[in-house]
Amino acid sequence: MPHHLSKFIRSLYKTKEFIPLHTPTFGEQEKLNVLDTIETTFVSSVGKYVDDFERAVELFTGSPKAVATVNGTAALHTALYMAGVQRNDLVITQALTFVATCNAIHHMGAEPVFVDVSRETLGLCPLALESYLEENARVEGGRCVHKQSGKAIKSVVPVHTFGHPVHLDEIQRICKKWHITLVEDAAESLGSYYKGKHTGTVGEFAALSFNGNKVITTGGGGMILCSNESHGKRTKHITTTAKVSHPYEFYHDEPSFNYRMPNLNAALGCAQMQRLPLFLEQKRELANQYREFFRGSGYEFIDEPEHGRSNFWLNAILCSDKSARNALLEEQNSSGIMCRPVWQLMHRLPMFEQCLRGDLEVSEDIEARLVNVPSSPI
Ligand SMILES: *Cc1c(COP(=O)(O)O)cnc(C)c1O
Repeated sequence: MPHHLSKFIRSLYKTKEFIPLHTPTFGEQEKLNVLDTIETTFVSSVGKYVDDFERAVELFTGSPKAVATVNGTAALHTALYMAGVQRNDLVITQALTFVATCNAIHHMGAEPVFVDVSRETLGLCPLALESYLEENARVEGGRCVHKQSGKAIKSVVPVHTFGHPVHLDEIQRICKKWHITLVEDAAESLGSYYKGKHTGTVGEFAALSFNGNKVITTGGGGMILCSNESHGKRTKHITTTAKVSHPYEFYHDEPSFNYRMPNLNAALGCAQMQRLPLFLEQKRELANQYREFFRGSGYEFIDEPEHGRSNFWLNAILCSDKSARNALLEEQNSSGIMCRPVWQLMHRLPMFEQCLRGDLEVSEDIEARLVNVPSSPI
């Protein structure tokens, strides 16, 4: 089978060269836009592309206010800041994620708490979340408190893993009931929908990423989606040094970040947004091909959940066990086809091994068996 897989993937990409996991695609408009920033000298914090890019993402996602940042980690950091996360607070997230989610929590002086993911979405499991809270938390004076440590559980950060939307209704209901702010890590899910709503527009705040390996790229970049105008205004303010607008005076009215996306990157983003619908179509077609190929193969294709529409950012399969996974990784990578295991679970990393956690049975099973296969749009 691994050999058939190599042949199949080579037939998809029609090349004998190395096949990477995910690469960006650029057209003429990208070149024109970037050149324009250089020719006008507006490569940095002044220029029209940042506003245009934010408006384009608002239009596409339906978010009331989007704020562009230097990367997705900065967007998450800001989202948690805006959500009121403070030093020594707890933030519930999944152990099955890219390290950026937990780094952003750490940068707030808070600590991640790991709860299991659902088998269906690979994202935070509402049942696991609710049972963790029922066992370990209580609501006290309108806030959620971790019983044993007395620390506040301020936020829940589900990740739409590989672009598959989590069960947002249930997670949102639990967050409301327990007085916890919902912040979506939508870094991987631009173009993914939950019951018709774009991912990242259900939570109070969300973060997108435009890193080079994501669905669209700005080189490096991110975006904070805000659930209302006033959140949006304040988010813009604190990501741009909290400078009070004035023709020449420097006056800053609160501690803040310098996280604004440069115009140079936004120029690329504007052109990429125009191509996004095509990328999504191509990625869906690729997923269809993988689904067909893996049917009855003994490898299980991770499909979009019934409640949503996935962008199929990274296609993934589950092998029968860890040794089958290792064999597949070995075979594909040595034949010039990049396949990757999922991230090591966060509680195995030295800086997060002391963190609180619930039962992580599903996460551990997925960690042992999952392989990502090449997913650049075809
Ligand atoms: C890509 C990614 C981020 C943040 O990305 P940056 O590389 O900082 O832009 C955050 N969370 C997840 C789950 C990601 O995949």
